[in-house]
Amino acid sequence: MLRPSGPECGAPGARWRLVLGALLMCAVLTPSAQAAGRAHQHGVARLDIAVDPGEITLQFSTPLDNLLGFERAPRTDAERAQVQSLVARLRAGETMWRIDPAAGCQLAGVTLESAVLKLGRSVASAGDTGHADLEGVYTFRCADTARAGHLDVGLFGFRHLHRVEVQVATARGQFRRDLKRPAQRIVLSP
Ligand SMILES: [Zn+2]
Repeated sequence: MLRPSGPECGAPGARWRLVLGALLMCAVLTPSAQAAGRAHQHGVARLDIAVDPGEITLQFSTPLDNLLGFERAPRTDAERAQVQSLVARLRAGETMWRIDPAAGCQLAGVTLESAVLKLGRSVASAGDTGHADLEGVYTFRCADTARAGHLDVGLFGFRHLHRVEVQVATARGQFRRDLKRPAQRIVLSP
């Protein structure tokens, strides 16, 4: 992902533009900040939406506190059950993310990563900060992504989550949205 590339990049594909945007942002961060990902702020999550021909990819990143109310491995049976229920909820990508039905999308893959919950690659964080994140990548295959006018998110069922910083990359341009509780619709055009 960190291959060097110049701004001449005329490569097609919204995802590439999203990566380039992330690279530009990373350029001002230290390597350790890059490894840690984006800023960890309780109450706030990040969502990157890449709309490519035939495919929509969602990259979701949030402090674990937003989803669970704690940011460590579960210690009690009740907490273990809470984590199990969370994972099931997040894996149900078609409920969590409802793409405009006009685009004819179907969930094709879900990857969840969280070191403290032992999900995914479980990359250890640099030092124990007492904080932890969860990241999810959702891939949808679609009949016609050009017809995807909006995305409704089911995130505000998590009561600790108040705002989602959204970045959208489509063939028509790249832009940001700020989604605040209780709104749930992200319009996918600039
Ligand atoms: Zn935290």
